[in-house]
Amino acid sequence: MFSVEEIRKDFPILCQKVYNKPLVYFDNAATTQKPNVVLEKIQGAYTTQNANIHRGVHFLSQKATEEHENARAYVAQYINAPNPCEVIFTRGTTEAINLVANSFCERFCGEGDEIILSEMEHHSNIVPWQLVAEKKGLKLKVVKLNALGELDLEHYESLFNEKTKIVSVAHVSNVLGTVNPIKTIVQIAHQKGVKVLVDGAQAIPHLEVDVQDLDVDFYAFSGHKVYAPTGIGVLYGKEELLNQLPPYQGGGEMIDRVSFGGTTYNELPYKFEAGTPDYVGSTALAEALRYMTALGLENVRKHERELLSYTTQRLKEMEGVKIIGTSCVKSGAISFIVSDIHPYDIGMLLDKLGIAVRTGHHCAQPLMDSLGISGTVRVSFAVYNTKTEIDVFIDALKRVTAMLS
Ligand code: PLP
Repeated sequence: MFSVEEIRKDFPILCQKVYNKPLVYFDNAATTQKPNVVLEKIQGAYTTQNANIHRGVHFLSQKATEEHENARAYVAQYINAPNPCEVIFTRGTTEAINLVANSFCERFCGEGDEIILSEMEHHSNIVPWQLVAEKKGLKLKVVKLNALGELDLEHYESLFNEKTKIVSVAHVSNVLGTVNPIKTIVQIAHQKGVKVLVDGAQAIPHLEVDVQDLDVDFYAFSGHKVYAPTGIGVLYGKEELLNQLPPYQGGGEMIDRVSFGGTTYNELPYKFEAGTPDYVGSTALAEALRYMTALGLENVRKHERELLSYTTQRLKEMEGVKIIGTSCVKSGAISFIVSDIHPYDIGMLLDKLGIAVRTGHHCAQPLMDSLGISGTVRVSFAVYNTKTEIDVFIDALKRVTAMLS
């Protein structure tokens, strides 16, 4: 039985009050709250089996290594990766994208080569490419959006030429909520022999992600956006492709043999995991994904879809509200502006009423520029949010905007 009231009991933080008002947490696109199973996993790991992993001959090290590798296998199963060695643990989406930008471009890109991004990307999927483009003399091309906040696929297709090497796009926009047609994007790129990295930071908490079905070459996501702790994330990459890339960082388990004459590197996935990995974070991430599986991804999706459509309808009823991003395929987040009121003022006053929303450019300044606005108010959902909370939010928004008008 899927019951939001029961689910809320799994998240101890949700029952607290903020300024003496019940907390309404609508900032889930920034980070999600953590269920007891995840908190207990972290506590359990440090209380019963903490030891550095790999190469340890003693009991605790072997146990911790086994848990870390089991976590990898579970993540692989969750995203339907054919082989656990294709799951690289990173600190999050940002580090995963930096890894691909550096290693892929080092191996496959030369001066004048081109990379395709889109106007809706998070800074984490822009700046790593700019850094490497500057170093190697590469060119970035940017897919435009249509009036609904969707990728203009005709424009996308027109950007390819013989110099295009990789496309890197979000699965779901953290501002607009638009769900991009990844299968089509990949098909078009592959027909032209171009690889695709998908930034799945905002998809993994809300959608079923099957990397084989999507046929992506790389897929990146962060644990903290899917009920796991901060500091752990994943880069999936096709084995054959990862094998061709040079290491990103050096030291720790990524080596095979080191000498001052030269060093050889370990096999996948260790080649890309320099230094002590977050072996507690990895097991907590697997626990969070198990929690999602137990809830049933279809139930989660249905519930969050209802929250999104109910909020959209309630916002549309309000005078002066303009929703930013009106694609009919959306997930997780709604952005809006109200008349000429500054989003920051709305966010500040909502906070005083116990409601956490995010305001500003949401790390997507190029998108704001293309929309001709400085920022939005963003409401973003998780499985524990309720329609009652939306009613509380709408009433509060009416009060706040009346005060600010
Ligand atoms: N990409 C998107 C679409 C995001 O929404 C975010 C975070 O908000 C990121 C990348 C960066 O994620 P992280 O800070 O966990 O690396």
